[in-house]
Amino acid sequence: MAAIEPLAPAELVEVLMGRRAVPLPPHPIPIPLPLLGGSRFVIWKQDPSVGELGRRLALIPSLVVNGPRDPRIDTNLAGTTPVTRSATGDFIFPADTPEADCAHTFAVVRETLTLYERLRGGSAMPWAWNIGGNADPVTAYPRAGVTPNAYYSRNQKALKFFYFTPPGASQVYTCRSLDIVAHETGHAVLDGLKPGWLGMGNPPQTGALHEAFGDLTAIFLALSQLDQVEAFVAITKANLHAKNYLSALAEQFGAALGRSAGLRNADNDLKLSQVSNEVHELSQVFTGAIYDILADIYAHERIQQGKVKDPAQILLEVAQKLCRLLLEAITKAPATGATFADVATAMLTISKAQGDPPAYRTFIHTRFAVREIVVPPVPLTASAIGQMDYGDPHLVLGADEVKVQAADPNHPSLSAKVPQDRSGCCGTMQLPEYSRAPEKLQAELQRLGKEGEVIPEEELLAGAVAELRKAFK
Ligand SMILES: [Zn+2]
Repeated sequence: MAAIEPLAPAELVEVLMGRRAVPLPPHPIPIPLPLLGGSRFVIWKQDPSVGELGRRLALIPSLVVNGPRDPRIDTNLAGTTPVTRSATGDFIFPADTPEADCAHTFAVVRETLTLYERLRGGSAMPWAWNIGGNADPVTAYPRAGVTPNAYYSRNQKALKFFYFTPPGASQVYTCRSLDIVAHETGHAVLDGLKPGWLGMGNPPQTGALHEAFGDLTAIFLALSQLDQVEAFVAITKANLHAKNYLSALAEQFGAALGRSAGLRNADNDLKLSQVSNEVHELSQVFTGAIYDILADIYAHERIQQGKVKDPAQILLEVAQKLCRLLLEAITKAPATGATFADVATAMLTISKAQGDPPAYRTFIHTRFAVREIVVPPVPLTASAIGQMDYGDPHLVLGADEVKVQAADPNHPSLSAKVPQDRSGCCGTMQLPEYSRAPEKLQAELQRLGKEGEVIPEEELLAGAVAELRKAFK
């Protein structure tokens, strides 16, 4: 039998672009055709200014029609969409083209939604307007206009990504940043779960949970991708506190705005007493606490499993587990006015109920306490923290309590009477649509749910849409 030579990179590109036929070996055994092959996309792994990582192929393992579009996500760019898929069903285009921006944006929104749907056992995650049988998708606008901004709008059922030219630099397309697209999609996912959290009538901490969820979504999306996890472990030598591309979110966007450490820095040490009551500053305290918990659980599991698993595999699994715990805790938290301590209590309660090692709860409780969010389990002297034995699954400081209290119940970030200052947040948090009276929320969701929609290529997606209408009662 003739051996098949591996393809050189240039040939591979030609094959992927559909210009060259793939040489196939003879198959002595018939191979069953897959029912649904999915589509290939080329995505920016991090945003284009981060040196170590470039573009790569990604498989979206579900039906995507021209647009790109599927039952949950549509793409809109005047003069470009619908982008036509290749004969093999793929969306592969040269960098720096409007088609590539459409493909990248769709793929990252899809990957973010899939991340959370997998954590919920595969069930569809509704957008906020998917009530009463409504199955309208969210529409992503990769080049929505010129301004340094990006946002999720419930009223427009849209994710909008803008572009701009910083002084003395070349044009920045926010849609090319995996972090920014994931962050805004995180707002949309959370709004579907908790439509009462975006309103301005909530305490500042509720707004901060929204902003933190966006940043954490970007981190967890990166940590759900095999190649990124392996690169991350190699670059940082498996030290989650090493300065790296992951904890400096939105690199290019941040650099363009003149913030050297990136727009948002998850690996921070900020405590509640060290930030103002501005919502983005508050969000960094929560994001930082979750990032520290991730680092602690990872350190613990590396000791537990280091001899039987690759460090990258351990990180992938730890991140998935923590992301699921956070998602379930947020689902369990109050429908309005939720605080950091509410989410901490829910995380501890779920962790105990699902039988995690007590050490997990020690990490969770301690990290929220160090940030001055909740009352500590024991006085947090340097020795109490420094003497923690990361390898001990039964590590408990004080008692294994699941109900934790706010360290300062009178903190201004907990008061719904204090107006939310969202001046440091992304575009979503600045939209006037979220400052309407909270009692109008239900009526607004009903109205959005009743709006109809014309679906192109309807027959291809009809089955999936009918199922969604049944699921979104
Ligand atoms: Zn945001």
